[in-house]
Amino acid sequence: MDIFFLGTGAGMPAKLRNVTSIALKLLEERGGVWLFDAGEATQHQILHTSLKPRRIEKIFITHLHGDHIYGLPGLLSSRSFQGGESEVTVYGPKGIKEYIHTSLSLSQTYLKYPLTVNEVDEGVIFEDDQFKVETLRLDHGIPSYGYRIIEKDRPGTLLAEKLKDTGVAPGPIFRKIKNGEAVILEDGRTINPTEFLGPTQKGRIVTILGDTRYCENAISLANNADFLVHEATFSANEEKLAHDYFHSTTHQAAQVAKIAGCKQLCLTHISSRYDRKDWLELVDEAKGIFPNTDIAEDFKEINIPLKH
Ligand SMILES: [Zn+2]
Ligand SMILES: [Zn+2]
Repeated sequence: MDIFFLGTGAGMPAKLRNVTSIALKLLEERGGVWLFDAGEATQHQILHTSLKPRRIEKIFITHLHGDHIYGLPGLLSSRSFQGGESEVTVYGPKGIKEYIHTSLSLSQTYLKYPLTVNEVDEGVIFEDDQFKVETLRLDHGIPSYGYRIIEKDRPGTLLAEKLKDTGVAPGPIFRKIKNGEAVILEDGRTINPTEFLGPTQKGRIVTILGDTRYCENAISLANNADFLVHEATFSANEEKLAHDYFHSTTHQAAQVAKIAGCKQLCLTHISSRYDRKDWLELVDEAKGIFPNTDIAEDFKEINIPLKH
């Protein structure tokens, strides 16, 4: 599981930072990539990486501001030209359906793959046997959502040799024990699965938030997260400006990570008023409150390790 930043700027594209798009690479977990927002030129950014658009399985849109969605129709269209055939599901606030439908139909774009668009509200918006995704509303000028991606715990690996040593032959009994079921053998012995399974692999939690002011729902979504992506459009001393424009400062992002008990924080959506030389200062501000903080840069990749 890796987070790959395709665009990390605020509002408008800048030379050093393109507008927002974040890829959650789940290649080992499910052979796919989940994208969060698709600002203008997201597909151009992808060209500079090893990401394959046909691998994109889901696209989560945090809100409908242009710097988060102007790259979406082009990306969806190119994916079709590039041989993408598998289904894509887009999740986003009310209006995302009309936006996608209008752009594709007016430009007479026909996709060669099935596209599903789900307009979301607060709650669980996706769940399968591997992952669950929850959303809550944040505090921004228009409806903006945060996404909490919960990886489910996986049962430990089967200790096959140990099981063989007890005289059980590989087969249906192995499968039952792997699934955590107790088994009574023909000779009357009971096999307790916990003795024959390695430790449970704990699932990870990743929280990716849309643009927001400092708010309670950000803290709820980030509760105990292994990785939090929080916007920090402004430096710590611009609290008034951040409030007026419905954004957060470095300190506020760090405060959310601290109160929520996150393991790691990455700041993104950095205003173009800050030059490369300012970035270190921005991280240092946040580190004063939450030490394990990083700042996103276009094309930066961060691994989210398995828990032990
Ligand atoms: Zn934005
Ligand atoms: Zn916005």
